[in-house]
Amino acid sequence: MAQRDYYEILGLQKNASDDEIKKAYRKLAMKYHPDRNPDDEDAEVRFKEVKEAYEVLADPQKRAAYDQFGHAGVDGGMGGGARGGGGASFSDIFSDVFGDIFGGGGGRGGRMFRGADLRYNLELSLEEAVFGKEATLNIPTWSTCGACDGKGQADGKAPETCPTCQGHGDVRVQQGFFSVQQTCPRCGGTGAIVTDPCGSCGGDGRIEETKELNVKIPAGVDTGDRIRLSGEGEPGERGGPPGDLYVQVMVREHPIFTRDGAHLRCTVPINVVTAALGGELEVPTLEGRVNLRIPPGTQTGKTFKIRGKGVKPVRGGAQGDLLCRVQVETPVNLTREQKELLQRFGETLDAGGRKHNPEGSSWLDKARRFFDELKF
Ligand SMILES: [Zn+2]
Ligand SMILES: [Zn+2]
Repeated sequence: MAQRDYYEILGLQKNASDDEIKKAYRKLAMKYHPDRNPDDEDAEVRFKEVKEAYEVLADPQKRAAYDQFGHAGVDGGMGGGARGGGGASFSDIFSDVFGDIFGGGGGRGGRMFRGADLRYNLELSLEEAVFGKEATLNIPTWSTCGACDGKGQADGKAPETCPTCQGHGDVRVQQGFFSVQQTCPRCGGTGAIVTDPCGSCGGDGRIEETKELNVKIPAGVDTGDRIRLSGEGEPGERGGPPGDLYVQVMVREHPIFTRDGAHLRCTVPINVVTAALGGELEVPTLEGRVNLRIPPGTQTGKTFKIRGKGVKPVRGGAQGDLLCRVQVETPVNLTREQKELLQRFGETLDAGGRKHNPEGSSWLDKARRFFDELKF
């Protein structure tokens, strides 16, 4: 198998600086890392290639040998090194890069922390989900503690700089050829040690509160839909960006309607007389009511479509329909007179034979044939 040129793999010129090599490697390693490309064999191959190229070009001795002799100059020495690819996880690479952007270079500020994303479960009635709603959410948030001015110390002084990380908030640990940045175990990443915690905030420097947030819920949302409110999550620490707020929609059960995508479904009970003779009845919709015509001889399970009385989906598309499924109800608690009437009615049914009960008669025929075959 022909091996590609290491500079070409990293997209670099032969005279690339160490810094350029490092940058190109990080960019490509993040792009092709297996954590980001699960079950992608091509990405896996590219990742190994990139890693191998970097291992050679980042080492001045190996790079010199490669520049002079090509792959032959370094192949012997690679051995297990090239294969030991699993050492660093994606997050390791990521935190490393992050460290360079925000905390590296000996800056005194320590790391910035993006605030956590928050999830808010919002329960809606079916009507609210279908027509949209202006909702007021009570979101937990943090505000700076007034008692200690956010410092966390009871005496009002600034907390001491953490001696383990010198205030950076994280420590570097060497893992193979990766330098991995980890949150400082002593100060938990804040870079500071509170010696005399403030009574109001317990040394955190911030107090939990709730804030009201007005959100416009668009018409047509359904259970499982998520609305992202950028920047409405927890505030960042040390000036970091805030997280996002995700409003998770949950639609309550409705006594009449169930949602089926853009359609609404309902079951309409009708009595035997209406089912047999036909008739008209009022069915509710989310906006009011409509008349539904029942033709004579309607059976249980027959579904009638009322056009345009469903839902207009939030992601666009046509408005759905209202689908009314008929259920013929057997009468109960009959008086003696009603029983007698039914009895007489039943005799006329029997006299008419299969004319009045085509389904039942053909079913009886099938059952008879089945018994005959069993030689009962
Ligand atoms: Zn520390
Ligand atoms: Zn405080």
